[in-house]
Amino acid sequence: MTEVPEAAAVGPPPAAAAERPTVLAVDGLNTRFDTPEGEVCAVNDVSFRVREGETVGIVGESGSGKSQVFMSVMGLLAANGRATGSVKFRDQEILGMPPQKLNRIRGAHMSMIFQDPMTSLNPYLTVSRQMTEVLVQHKGMGESDAEKRSVEMLDLVRIPEAKRRIRMYPHEFSGGMRQRVMIAIALLCQPDMLIADEPTTALDVTVQAQILELMHDLKTELNTAIVLITHDLGVIAGLSDRVLVMYAGNIVERGAVREIFYGPQHPYTEGLLKSMPRLTGTEQTELPSIPGQPPNLQHLPSGCNFRPRCAYAFDRCRVEEPAQRDIGPGRAKACHLDAL
Ligand code: SF4
Repeated sequence: MTEVPEAAAVGPPPAAAAERPTVLAVDGLNTRFDTPEGEVCAVNDVSFRVREGETVGIVGESGSGKSQVFMSVMGLLAANGRATGSVKFRDQEILGMPPQKLNRIRGAHMSMIFQDPMTSLNPYLTVSRQMTEVLVQHKGMGESDAEKRSVEMLDLVRIPEAKRRIRMYPHEFSGGMRQRVMIAIALLCQPDMLIADEPTTALDVTVQAQILELMHDLKTELNTAIVLITHDLGVIAGLSDRVLVMYAGNIVERGAVREIFYGPQHPYTEGLLKSMPRLTGTEQTELPSIPGQPPNLQHLPSGCNFRPRCAYAFDRCRVEEPAQRDIGPGRAKACHLDAL
């Protein structure tokens, strides 16, 4: 059994989440990109649910397909990308929906925040202008009501002196404060779902902890479903109800956060957990890392995609790709091993 990092100790107990209404239903999602070297499959037959008020953590190394799943969901794929399968938001199919119609759902009902807020904020417009515009456009509010509501949101994400600072430009805020502004904008219309893609990666550890705490509080206060996309299992430990682990475009393990942390059942998940820094212990030892690199998606190995990096690999892994199979309620893995 893998030692559990301290942060995981604050994770919520397995909730009766399966009984909550579904906000997002993704079934058989495939995302492919045309490149000069040929077609690349970035997301391979991915299915999952996000339910009201729950937080789902999606974890994997860069190139695992975790961000492309949500770029597909939001209709934000690059021009050479295409997604097939089914994505239902509140029972309405949104995959392939005309951009104008999809725009009405994005922003008002589902929002996304990214690693670097400067890429999403307009440097030439005051924060006030960028916030009020959202409310005028999506909610039909008048300017003064929109500004009042915007100040309330900045207060909620704990921007000090919100009334004064709303007149400032993005560059006048620190990195952590800019991320708070982005969260405030994303939550302005009280969306059913907030997708946060590496929201704390660009921040130092203290500010990272503050942003995660803020998201935890907002989840409780607003009952917004949160999808947290990250390469760092430590980030999702205290915030997520369920975890999906992705590798080379596939979900390789899924389960409640405690199950994933206390009893990983896929060698890749175990490797991610072992490579997390720990606060316990006195000896200074080098942090173990998963050997090798994520595979080139155009030249995947035969059998299991994780085989070249897996310490448990055996003959079958070379010839047969493991299918995802249920190993308990809400728990599944794609590995030939019965147990670790
Ligand atoms: Fe390792 Fe084989 Fe499991 Fe793949 S199927 S993760 S190679 S044991």
